[in-house]
Amino acid sequence: MSDKVIPLADHRYAAAVPVIPLVALPATGRVVDRLDRPMRDLRISVTDRCNFRCSYCMPREVFDKDYQFLPHSSLLSFEEITRVARLFAAHGVHKLRLTGGEPLLRKNLEVLVGMLAELRTPDGKPLDLTLTTNGSVLAKKAQALRDAGLQRVTVSLDAIDDTIFRRMNDADYPVADVLRGIEEAQRVGLGPIKVNMVVKRGTNDHEIVAMARHFKGTPIVLRFIEYMDVGATNGWRMDEVLPSAQVLERIAEVFPIEALPSNDVGETAARWRYRDGSGEIGVISSVTQAFCHDCNRARLSTEGKLFLCLFATHGHDIRALLRGDYSDEQMSAAVAHIWQGRDDRYSELRGAGLPTTPGERRVEMHYIGG
Ligand code: SAM
Repeated sequence: MSDKVIPLADHRYAAAVPVIPLVALPATGRVVDRLDRPMRDLRISVTDRCNFRCSYCMPREVFDKDYQFLPHSSLLSFEEITRVARLFAAHGVHKLRLTGGEPLLRKNLEVLVGMLAELRTPDGKPLDLTLTTNGSVLAKKAQALRDAGLQRVTVSLDAIDDTIFRRMNDADYPVADVLRGIEEAQRVGLGPIKVNMVVKRGTNDHEIVAMARHFKGTPIVLRFIEYMDVGATNGWRMDEVLPSAQVLERIAEVFPIEALPSNDVGETAARWRYRDGSGEIGVISSVTQAFCHDCNRARLSTEGKLFLCLFATHGHDIRALLRGDYSDEQMSAAVAHIWQGRDDRYSELRGAGLPTTPGERRVEMHYIGG
């Protein structure tokens, strides 16, 4: 009889309890890290569970029926999430993205959306409130999310061919469910909608042009993401990455395209448009053209650990503060202190062949939030 092997991913990531500075200076609407990068974007993982088992993110061999997901008591409550988001907004965060896992699996998510929609930037504007979803149950939820104040959605879709899509999500979800979700999101006004396709060479790269053709002529922006070496369970190999330059070449062979200027500092996607004016596409080249130099994203894990980089190995235990006896002022100062100490730039170091996080396990994406 063999012993059950505990999967490597099933461990809780190290996180230090944040230091509370002795003098708690009030938030000024701008805090910068050691590389002069402001904090602008907070991604909030609302669940570590997902109904898909994409091999590049939550491979079924690891995330099987015995995998221990976080117990409900570990999750931040909606009140706790909103309190953290409010503190971050005071430091200059103007964009909130709900993610996971699959965020639409979190019960009553629209209640959280409603609470976050009430938040304001220091100059009184609503925050940009969005959500990333695999789209499988979006058709059912789009109206309630919109009514609660969600502004837009990003939907992940890795193939337009049903057989390839079912194989990639490894849970037998059809493309039709996701397309219905996108249609419904459009109908209720959750836009502009972005569709993200992770490109894995040899798995779905032959779907690039078919995906482009499907969304060309619509207001939906299709973005191609390079397969990234996040986490430690997906068996990432460089030869499975198709560089964005090649994605663009393949599209340009069929549809003439031209580059567009970026919309915003810290934007992850390089923007392109079809020359005939029939729409926009984007490429996210996290592997071949790292964009750490202006990364302004912080990530709050499902159980309230703050991560300063998608490739981090350690978090900061914000939940310990939330559930301790700390004032907003103390928590706010602790958050500023954490951000001021940030010097993460994993992808740039890896790209330059420099040491990154040797011997340390990187956090999984479904837990930290994509
Ligand atoms: N379940 C939601 C979804 O499917 O969009 C949100 C969470 S998911 C982790 C967020 C995004 O990360 C998805 O677009 C997914 O395809 C992408 N992703 C996950 N693992 C990735 C990897 N290894 N490389 C590139 N993108 C990845």
